[in-house]
Amino acid sequence: MNPGQDISQNLFEELDDLYQDLILDHYRRPRNQQQVADPDICAEGHNPFCGDRVALQIKLEDGRVTQVGLQSHGCSITQASASKMTELLKDKTLEETVILSKLFTAMMQGKKLTEEELERLGEMKAFSAVCKYPIRIKCAVLPWNTLEDGVKHYRSGQKHR
Ligand code: ZN
Repeated sequence: MNPGQDISQNLFEELDDLYQDLILDHYRRPRNQQQVADPDICAEGHNPFCGDRVALQIKLEDGRVTQVGLQSHGCSITQASASKMTELLKDKTLEETVILSKLFTAMMQGKKLTEEELERLGEMKAFSAVCKYPIRIKCAVLPWNTLEDGVKHYRSGQKHR
C-alpha cells in the first residue's frame, strides 16, 4: 500500500472541520493586508465567476520574500486562500514560491500529492476540501495564479513601479 495515498485519503475525509475553522479564521482576520511600499513584484488577479479580486505586492531581499501585501475582495475561499498564502510565502525564494503554487494548483485539480509535498503546503492542504465544489476551485487558486503572474513579469524584467 502506498502510504502517501493513504494519508491523502484520510486527510480528505477529516478535513471538514479544519477547513471550516481555517477558512473562517483567515476570512475574518486576513493577514498581511497592508500595501507594501516600493514592491519588487506587483500583480492583480480577477475571477469573473464570483467577482473575486486580489492585488499582491512582494518585496525581495537577497532573493527571498521579506514582505508580502495582499488586498483581497470577494468570497471567503479567495480571501482565506490569499491570507494563508501570504503566511506561506515569507522567507521563501522565488523558486520555492512557484513550486508551492504548482503543488497547490495540482492538489486543487485533484492530483494526488506525496506526503512530503503535502507537508510543504502546510495548512494550505485544508483547501483540498474545496475540490468537492468545482466552481470554488478558481477562487482558491486565484491568489496563487496572481503570484505566478507577478513572478513571471518580474523575471521577464518588466518590473512594475
Ligand atoms: Zn470566489
